[in-house]
Amino acid sequence: MTERSPLDIASLWRIALGEIELSVSKANFTTWFKNVTLQGRHQDSVVIVTPNIFTREWLENKYHSVILEALQRIDPSIQNVRYVISTQPIMKIQPVPHSPVVIRKHQDSLVVSGASSPEAPEEKRSVWWDEDSNLNARYTFEEFVVGANNELVYAAAQAVARRPGESYNPLFIYGGVGLGKTHILQAIGNAVLAEKQLRVKYVTSEKFTTELITAIQTRDTHTFKKRYRLVDLLIIDDVQFIIGKEKTQDEFFHTFNELHSGGKQVVISSDRPPKAIPTLEERLRSRFEGGMIADITPPDLETRIAILQVKCARRRVRVPDDVLAYLAAQVPSNIRELEGCLNRVLAHCELHKEVPTLSRTQEILQPLLTQPKRRIIHTNRIIEAVSTYYNISTDELLGESRRREVVRPRQVAMYLLRSENQFSFPTIGKYFGGRDHTTAMHSCGKIEENLETDEMLRQDLVTIRQKLYVLVGV
Ligand code: ADP
Ligand code: MG
Repeated sequence: MTERSPLDIASLWRIALGEIELSVSKANFTTWFKNVTLQGRHQDSVVIVTPNIFTREWLENKYHSVILEALQRIDPSIQNVRYVISTQPIMKIQPVPHSPVVIRKHQDSLVVSGASSPEAPEEKRSVWWDEDSNLNARYTFEEFVVGANNELVYAAAQAVARRPGESYNPLFIYGGVGLGKTHILQAIGNAVLAEKQLRVKYVTSEKFTTELITAIQTRDTHTFKKRYRLVDLLIIDDVQFIIGKEKTQDEFFHTFNELHSGGKQVVISSDRPPKAIPTLEERLRSRFEGGMIADITPPDLETRIAILQVKCARRRVRVPDDVLAYLAAQVPSNIRELEGCLNRVLAHCELHKEVPTLSRTQEILQPLLTQPKRRIIHTNRIIEAVSTYYNISTDELLGESRRREVVRPRQVAMYLLRSENQFSFPTIGKYFGGRDHTTAMHSCGKIEENLETDEMLRQDLVTIRQKLYVLVGV
């Protein structure tokens, strides 16, 4: 410390943190500044120690001016901030990508290589998967980027992880495909498992169903019940798949009740809110609604770039900012797809031993990004997506029924044929059992009109469209 400043380094940081807290959102503050300390001072420079590479990158790229200004307000002689990574690992488990790629700086150029190089020993470990809890250690809170689209979910998830069974029970998280539901669910599980030594079980509702069927067939429901009822935290992913499966719903209801009444935590995800699951039993719906319901929406551009940065940092690859910005701009509404594009670029670059530049990235992704949007989606795919979503048969959808549960989905299907494929009204009419073109026109108009006020309908269409546009094998 200089003579002019009476503050020791710890106090300096404590006061600076107070300033920083005022200039960033609460969620970002907790995410990025939690395990960060100020540890050294040399003349006009200070050293900030971060727990891992992505926090370092994030602070350096996003919060440098906030940090510097906060420090300068306390001690104007500070001119530089250096960011380093703590040598003590904060994360107990270092997850590893399936096909790691390392891009290192060598003199002035970047060198791309596989992860087996001796300089990246930790990359060699295999992905940690806990069989008992069924959790994948890759999904942690640390690697979950918080943006306006998921702030509420993140806060609720953290509260639940801190005090399972006490804050929000159940916690029901919903949102479209590839938006991070599984990630946040598993992050809760991993945090609880690591910090509280409680019994955690993660299961998809499909697996729950299959196991139940097997248990019934082998007359061993006792083991099944034990597996799911004797836990402290039960996480059920994609609960929409138990729609219409009476036995599974029944079993789930009893499992839920037993856990809930015993003060155990239940966390659920779905692609839509409980209200929009048409055949969900009323008793289950009201249980779900008795807790906390929070949604994840598609992230904005800034958050998408941040997610890419975290993914790159985890793989210890450096990708130029313009490439990340390009990727983030191209894939707006599905993070899995976004990651898929990043992986594809990295894989290409590794194969051809080249650096991912913007123009190479554009070339590599061009066939993927232009095709699906331009391509006409097969009509059957739209019909199937709509009937699956609303849980009615395609025959009903295309048929004559005037029941309300069928009329609305039919209108939605007609609307999608028009909006996605630009079909003419007579063509749409013909497709739906030779109906008149005015019927098609009326249906599309009705949906357009309702979309302006009906939030649920809007949500329905977001989810259906996402399903239509999921890029397979990217
Ligand atoms: P969902 O279950 O909603 O379909 P996932 O949880 O499987 O989506 O997420 C898809 C991919 O996107 C995962 O690899 C996940 O790590 C990543 N992802 C989604 N949201 C975030 C986020 N906010 N921060 C970091 N990664 C994210
Ligand atoms: Mg999922």
